[in-house]
Amino acid sequence: MDKKPITKAGLVSDLRNLGVRQGDILNVKCSMRSLGKVEGGAAALIEALLEAVGAEGTIVTDSFIKVYKPYVAKKMPLADDNSFSYCGVLANEMLKHPKVERSRHPVQKFAAIGKYAKEFCENHTDESYAYDILRIMALKGGKNLKIGSDEQIPGVGTTHVAIGMLKLRNSRPYLGVYYMKNGRKTFFRRDWAGICAASFNKFLPYYEKNGDIIARGKVGNADSMLTSMRGTLKTEYDILKKDPSFLDCGDPFCVDCRLNWEFSRGTKPGFILKSLLHGKLMKAVFVARMFYKKYVTLPDKDSKLPPDDFAE
Ligand SMILES: [Zn+2]
Repeated sequence: MDKKPITKAGLVSDLRNLGVRQGDILNVKCSMRSLGKVEGGAAALIEALLEAVGAEGTIVTDSFIKVYKPYVAKKMPLADDNSFSYCGVLANEMLKHPKVERSRHPVQKFAAIGKYAKEFCENHTDESYAYDILRIMALKGGKNLKIGSDEQIPGVGTTHVAIGMLKLRNSRPYLGVYYMKNGRKTFFRRDWAGICAASFNKFLPYYEKNGDIIARGKVGNADSMLTSMRGTLKTEYDILKKDPSFLDCGDPFCVDCRLNWEFSRGTKPGFILKSLLHGKLMKAVFVARMFYKKYVTLPDKDSKLPPDDFAE
C-alpha cells in the first residue's frame, strides 16, 4: 500500500493521462474510498477536476435526494437546493462549493460547476425527465468519468436516459417529496422507472466492442474509466430497443427483474413459494408485503420523458 497521500497535482496528472481534456463536460461518479487518502479530501478532487477541464469545462455529479411515502414526506423538510444528498462524499462536497449550481428537479438533483452549470441546472426542473441532464450532456459530447471499479460503481448513468427514451416501464413503490411550486407546498411523486443495480455492468462488453470506452486507468489508487456519453447511450439504446429484457440481471431471487419490469414473467405467489422452498424467508416476506403497499407502474402516461434522439 502506498502511504504517501495523493495530491491535487497528482490527480490532475492522472485525469489528463486518462484522457480528460480542457473544455470537457464530465459526468463524474467517484468512490472516495477507492481513490485513497487525498490531501485536502473531496474538495481537492473537485479542484483537480476543475483544473483538468479548465474554464471552458463543466463537471456534473449526482446529488439526488431520498423519497418517502406521502405521509412521511409531509413531515420531512421541503425538498430544495439545500437538501442533503445520499450520493456520498463528493456530492455533498460539490454542494458546498461557492460556484455550484443544483438542478431544480425536486428529486433527481444534479450538482454542476463550470461553463454549462447554470444552463443545465436551470433547465432541469419538475417538468423534465429525471435524468435529462445526462441526455443533454451526451448530445454536447460529454464524457462519463468513473473513479472506482465497475463493482464499486455499477453503471455510467446514461442507461437511465436510454430506458426513458424507450419508455420501458416497471412497477415501483409510490414515493416522493414535498416541494414549493408556485408558492404552494406540493407533492412530487417519483415518476421514472428504476433499474436493478446488477444489470448495469452487462453493458460493459458492448461499450468495449462499440468503442465507447475512451480509456481505462488509475486516478489516485482507483481503477477508473472514461467513456463517451453519446457512445454509451447509443449502445444502451440499441440493445434495449431490440430486447428490453437485456436488463434482466438473471438472479432468480431479484424482485426487480423477476416481478417488476413489464418484461418480467414471475408472479408474486410463485416468487413467495420459490423463496420459501429455498429457505429465503425474508424474500418471501418482502414480496408478501408488496400486496399491501401502493405500487405504480412508471413512467405513467403523464410522466415527462426525454425526446427519443435516436428514433429513425
Ligand atoms: Zn435484478
